[in-house]
Amino acid sequence: TAPRASFKRIILKLSGESMSHAGERGIGVPEVMHIAGQVKLAHQAGCQIGLVVGGGNILRGSQFKGAGAGIQEATAHYMGMLATVINALALQDALESIGCQTRAMTAIKMDGVAEPYIRRRAKRHLEKGRIVILAAGTGSPFVTTDTAAAQRAMELEAEILMKATKVDGVYSDDPERNPHAMLYSELTYNAVREQNLRVMDSTAIAHCMEHKMPILVFNFRKDGNVLRAVRGEKVGTLISS
Ligand code: UDP
Repeated sequence: TAPRASFKRIILKLSGESMSHAGERGIGVPEVMHIAGQVKLAHQAGCQIGLVVGGGNILRGSQFKGAGAGIQEATAHYMGMLATVINALALQDALESIGCQTRAMTAIKMDGVAEPYIRRRAKRHLEKGRIVILAAGTGSPFVTTDTAAAQRAMELEAEILMKATKVDGVYSDDPERNPHAMLYSELTYNAVREQNLRVMDSTAIAHCMEHKMPILVFNFRKDGNVLRAVRGEKVGTLISS
């Protein structure tokens, strides 16, 4: 029989990019179905999964930084949080269409769309084997869903925060620009901070460091990677103290 998950509960951060066709914006149905299929495999291995979804495929608040009088940056961040809700609904249906039980919860109350995020309720859903989709980030502007993912990982007592990206892990430089960029298999939080490596935003790293929450960064485009990660197999870059 297939090896079981070695992690009992994880938070998986999915960037908005994982929902769209490479180089495009918006939602690509095949991409959403692919990521849903990957998550299902990991869930079937016996891992409780909370998904924190990004919204960058639709809108990022920082796009409007200094845009002038038209749209305030704070407003744009709320727009970004709403973008994550759009992704969450797509992902929820995709997961349910392949037989997963899910609950979507939003950090900004949105009756008629999804449940409000309540920590104790989210934990109950996880314990009952539902895949919990956590949308609208933290509910506050000027941060990103990385910070939301770090916060949820801590408060929902996940063993690890996993961040699925389009590259294999953390590199010494941008691997899409520099072919000589080196992939790290392990890093300390301090190394990430000191070398200013682009892993997650600095608030997220600081939170994880302070609470000793390990972070695994890996490639979601490779089939089976989410499953490998929850089984504790060597994949991506592991960040810990
Ligand atoms: N956002 C926010 N507060 C949060 C989470 C997200 O204001 O707690 C906004 C922010 O503007 C961000 C956008 O929502 O840029 C979309 O999220 P993110 O950039 O993290 O998406 P990703 O890069 O993961 O696709």
